[in-house]
Amino acid sequence: MTNETPKAPPLYPKSHLLAASGIAALLSLALLVFPSSEVEAKKTTLSLELESPAEQLKDESNTAPLVQTQGDQGSPFAQIDGADTNTEQAAQEAPATEKKPEAKEPGHREVTVARGDTLSTLFAKVGLPANAVHDLLASNKQAKQFSQLKHGQVLQFELDKDGELASLHSKVSNLETIRLTKTAKGYTFDREISKPVVRTAYAHGVIKSSLSASAQRAGLSHSMTMDMAKVLGYDIDFAQDIRPGDEFDVVYEQKVMDGKVVGTGNILSARFTNRGKTYTAVRYTNKQGNTSYYTADGNSLRKAFIRTPVDFARISSRFSAGRKHPILNKIRAHKGVDYAAPRGTPIKAAGDGRIELAGRRGGYGNTVIIAHGNSYKTLYGHMQGFAKGIKTGSNVKQGQIIGYIGTTGLSTGPHLHYEFQVNGVHVDPLSQKVPMADPIAKNERQRFLQQSQPLIARMDQEKATMLAANKR
Ligand SMILES: [Zn+2]
Repeated sequence: MTNETPKAPPLYPKSHLLAASGIAALLSLALLVFPSSEVEAKKTTLSLELESPAEQLKDESNTAPLVQTQGDQGSPFAQIDGADTNTEQAAQEAPATEKKPEAKEPGHREVTVARGDTLSTLFAKVGLPANAVHDLLASNKQAKQFSQLKHGQVLQFELDKDGELASLHSKVSNLETIRLTKTAKGYTFDREISKPVVRTAYAHGVIKSSLSASAQRAGLSHSMTMDMAKVLGYDIDFAQDIRPGDEFDVVYEQKVMDGKVVGTGNILSARFTNRGKTYTAVRYTNKQGNTSYYTADGNSLRKAFIRTPVDFARISSRFSAGRKHPILNKIRAHKGVDYAAPRGTPIKAAGDGRIELAGRRGGYGNTVIIAHGNSYKTLYGHMQGFAKGIKTGSNVKQGQIIGYIGTTGLSTGPHLHYEFQVNGVHVDPLSQKVPMADPIAKNERQRFLQQSQPLIARMDQEKATMLAANKR
């Protein structure tokens, strides 16, 4: 005997949400998934790869007066694995006046790929015989990566005293260098992936017209702005509630290569004052390696969502993409979780929000739908009745009783049918992927505070410094 909901039609057409706000639309489910460290690593790589030159330029130009960046690492240079950067290092070590690598390293040749160039024409330019290209390509399978030439790419040749090729290397992207080195057995190929230095940066902005405009002024990239909206999206409706005069502070990770910003990492802390009310989020990775954002005050830390809206209930049916419907006898997705409990058991709002519907809805019977900010929605079906004051348009607090377990609509017994939506997409409320951050565990509270307090202090301090500077 399963308790059922006959149909799980999408509650709202996606277009509704899309129309609601650019930010809402762009906050994909993937973005909303609070990353485990593993996912995080992937995301980092991805963002670096996707960083277009234009985006980088934008990032670099981000050194607007409002942004104060503070490197926490000594070296302005990227850390490059391996001991390869002969030319660059030589150039850096040598005084600026002595800019003649040719004189210093007689075997060094450097050519820039121009239109129409092939490996053969480039070899010819540095005085290598035509068969050198063939020997090189024949010696190692991976060597042909050197024949995928890009306009403007620089090839660095090192010739030995007999004028033969000793090594060839080229930077194929900001972060990647490929190299061939002559050995007794031919050429060996290797690839170096450079790791950018990660430092923390601070940005502060005051909204004049729109969030995106002020964030851009403050030096935040588009993706950072999206991240901020995601992090604080539970508390603030970024589509509808942003007002001129609202302000924000963000401490975030910045990736730097050769003194240039090549990307951004995570938001470490964010604070947003929306219509006079201030919300704070702090990133924290617990001892199990799970990362989430928390409010600054560990003690009164509010959960993003209550994981289970009914106390002492038994899960009678889980979320599934397809299963046999007990009444319709057809394979149907079950886009929620069923909690079986005695009739009349109280049902609690999973989070703060506004009631979009408190009434009958087809097979769901008596239903409550709560919008939590502009990204999240929860639905509670088959209720016996609604709690006092629960009606369409009213606001609810997390944990507030909204109604009672019943079996209205298409249902085979008393239970709650509970759905969770992120930007119009049903997600399994029991999955670890949904932003149902449980509070900081008691035994980690100390550790949490040790990490969160300096971040909050940094935002306080930077903002004070900035305001003082602006008064001058
Ligand atoms: Zn159900």
